[in-house]
Amino acid sequence: AKEKEHINVAIIGHVDHGKSTLIGRLLYEAGQIPPHIIEQYRKEAEQKGKATFEFAWVMDRLKEERERGVTIDVAHRKIETNKYIVTIIDCPGHRDFIKNMITGTSQADAAILVVDVAECVQPQTKEHVFLARTLGINQIIVAMNKMDRVNYDQKKFEECKEKVAKLLKLVGYKIEEVPFIPVSAYYGDNVYKRSDKMPWYNGPTIFEAFDMLKPPVKLIDKPLRIPIQDVYSIKGVGTVPVGRVESGVLRVGDKVIFEPPGVVGEVKSIEMHHEPLQEAKPGDNIGFNVRGVSKKDIRRGDVTGHLDNPPTVAKDFTAQIIVLQHPTAITVGYTPVVHAHTAQVACRFVELQKKIDPRTGAVKEENPQFLKTGDAAIVKLEPTRPMVIERVKDIPPLGRFAVRDMGMTIAAGMVIDVTPRK
Ligand code: GDP
Repeated sequence: AKEKEHINVAIIGHVDHGKSTLIGRLLYEAGQIPPHIIEQYRKEAEQKGKATFEFAWVMDRLKEERERGVTIDVAHRKIETNKYIVTIIDCPGHRDFIKNMITGTSQADAAILVVDVAECVQPQTKEHVFLARTLGINQIIVAMNKMDRVNYDQKKFEECKEKVAKLLKLVGYKIEEVPFIPVSAYYGDNVYKRSDKMPWYNGPTIFEAFDMLKPPVKLIDKPLRIPIQDVYSIKGVGTVPVGRVESGVLRVGDKVIFEPPGVVGEVKSIEMHHEPLQEAKPGDNIGFNVRGVSKKDIRRGDVTGHLDNPPTVAKDFTAQIIVLQHPTAITVGYTPVVHAHTAQVACRFVELQKKIDPRTGAVKEENPQFLKTGDAAIVKLEPTRPMVIERVKDIPPLGRFAVRDMGMTIAAGMVIDVTPRK
């Protein structure tokens, strides 16, 4: 049988609109909670004299993990459809919500926007849609959630749908291609199973909508790039960097370089989900053992590439940004932290080149003195320490970034050009 393609889907939306409930419902009904765990819970429930209530247990567990701030093991959040292995990327809800959302969505091929029909478009709904678009997520599924709260009423659905459609159109989504699905994550309507409470709806369920997504663009023919998430030193094995292959192919025996430090090593082995691999492709989350590199030579934020086509270390870079929120104004000299792939580096705004219309790209003002909330602009940034970043055109996942300051996301951007450090 042909191997199924992998696709990463981020869950976005305003707090309390039902993101984690939807994830729990999907995993549970798609049978992705291991049977032995369900069995264990069933026994516990029996002992306590309770009726079996597995879904509630799944929810409690997800909640517990979130509250502990655990990045939930991605391996446990996969759903197999007819066409895809779907990995659900969660964007936890408490501290640093937006930052996590950015690291999540920067790897996403599509997004599910969860909207509580009763509350409809809220501030984070707007912000996330803006970010998703800027970060290059071109496919979106809208889960119009909590339909049970409006008695599964079609009119309520249509009213809110219109508002969400307007928002999506504004940032440039092709609305004809976006499924709007009336669901109740809590009761399971139109999530995995078709609901009999909304006979007026004949579109796909969330589960079915996954198979309508276009497969992600393969980055397999691009140069190798693996942003490092962590580095381990394992007894009897050696140095093991861990990260997701964003582009290119890594093979056992390859000579690799880590930038910015510029250290070089040879790949002795590759592992994914505790299984050895001969080669790793875009989308694979791997650990790989490199000879010739010590744990202290490299760190999170460095990027692995092949020796003959190393990752670009930027002297400066030109980017298109959207200012999401800034209490006053951005001027030349402002130095917030740029989050790109797994790196976080303070970067200085050295030029404000032009203000542009975010939808059409038309120039509104040359060399503006400042930028304010809502502005889109072309700017030049200079990292305060060496940093790898690529043109979004060349290697999309390494060309997107978020600008953070004062505990919030100031702007999101895409790299148009890079001046390499000599
Ligand atoms: P998140 O912050 O977006 O992850 O939202 P949660 O999944 O934690 O849900 C927030 C609240 O809304 C919880 O109390 C859920 O039980 C409730 N909720 C989620 N989905 C539904 C739904 O479909 N119907 C109803 N009535 N409540 C829901």
